[in-house]
Amino acid sequence: MPRAVPFDLDRLRDEALRPIGEKLIAGERLSFADGVTLFTSPDLLGVGAMADAANRAKHGDRVTFASNQHINPTNICVLRKTCVFCGYARLPKEEGAYRYTLDQVLAESDRADGTITREFHIVGGLDMQTGLAYYTEMFRALKTRHPQVHIKALTAVEIAHIARIEKMSREDVLIALREAGLDTLPGGGAETFSAAVREQIADKKLGGTDYIDVHRTAHKLGIRSNCTMLYGHVETIEDRMQHLTMLRDLQDETGGFLAYIPLAYHPDDNELGKTLGRTGTSTTGFDDLRNLAVGRLFLDNFDHIKSHWIMVTSALTQIALHFGVNDIEGTVVREKIYHAVGAHTPQGMTLAQLLQLIRGAGKQPAERDSFYQVIREFTDADNGEEAADTTQAAVA
Ligand code: SF4
Repeated sequence: MPRAVPFDLDRLRDEALRPIGEKLIAGERLSFADGVTLFTSPDLLGVGAMADAANRAKHGDRVTFASNQHINPTNICVLRKTCVFCGYARLPKEEGAYRYTLDQVLAESDRADGTITREFHIVGGLDMQTGLAYYTEMFRALKTRHPQVHIKALTAVEIAHIARIEKMSREDVLIALREAGLDTLPGGGAETFSAAVREQIADKKLGGTDYIDVHRTAHKLGIRSNCTMLYGHVETIEDRMQHLTMLRDLQDETGGFLAYIPLAYHPDDNELGKTLGRTGTSTTGFDDLRNLAVGRLFLDNFDHIKSHWIMVTSALTQIALHFGVNDIEGTVVREKIYHAVGAHTPQGMTLAQLLQLIRGAGKQPAERDSFYQVIREFTDADNGEEAADTTQAAVA
């Protein structure tokens, strides 16, 4: 059962939102139809006010971030021609295709030396040459070299791909990866679960039910994970609600999700953007805020709703901290995937920049680990200066 949340119903200007506000106050779960109302109401500020109240009841003014580093070992992908929203993937012989050797991965990971990095976020393409041994060797080497760093790696789609090419069960793949050092799974690869949407944007990609199944298997093994939804392409409001319902149902069953992260579609340098005739920023700030707020209100069994500043800009992320968001993407260091489809945001942020972003929204920053345990609170006078130089170097 969701918790009862204090809320002033007079803040709502759309009468259709009133029954939802009453459920919030009573601690009642929202229905699919409530979610549709939240997505379609003209009163965005009312939706945001309810999400803000729900978030404050759980987290007060605290906003967390992690000191993380993204590593993308390969952009070679067998689905290069069928995921039409993707600008990152390449075929093996195509210009720009790359696959890191172990030494290259380790060289990239050495950017973490002397910095505050506590997590490697490792995802890439579905490369026929990167089977189980490629990743188990990589994770073992990373854990030997950086024993303090958490490994969050391989989307559900990559796990299913490794299982397929190795002719193993997904469970056995997860067990082998965990033994090699895998700590948690990222939430990418979900896109929008609806079969009709997948037919248009990711025809051959792992389906929504299978994505859920990989996460269920991971949770049952004690491997926690994040989850996402890609929005702003061809999906309907009902598709979004079906997606959120599937995530909420699995969370009821396993409690294994750490955070929900809605991801905004970017239309540059991908086939879908050309088909839709869109360039530049595809989603509106209005829709970005609404997706975050609905996530907070509908996913009542999730503790953490995260804004990905790389996709929606740091300015919008500041506002999102008043629309139900309690966690933001961290230092990152060198982001490639969204910059391949036209993200104009920086590829990383220093600790000082993250603190400035959070404080600039009137919130209190706290650094967390990958399981959302707070490691460090920052007083107003604390700019994390002893770590700032090293994160600055990493962002170059
Ligand atoms: S979205 Fe993922 S699976 Fe699809 S082409 Fe891009 S890298 Fe490959």
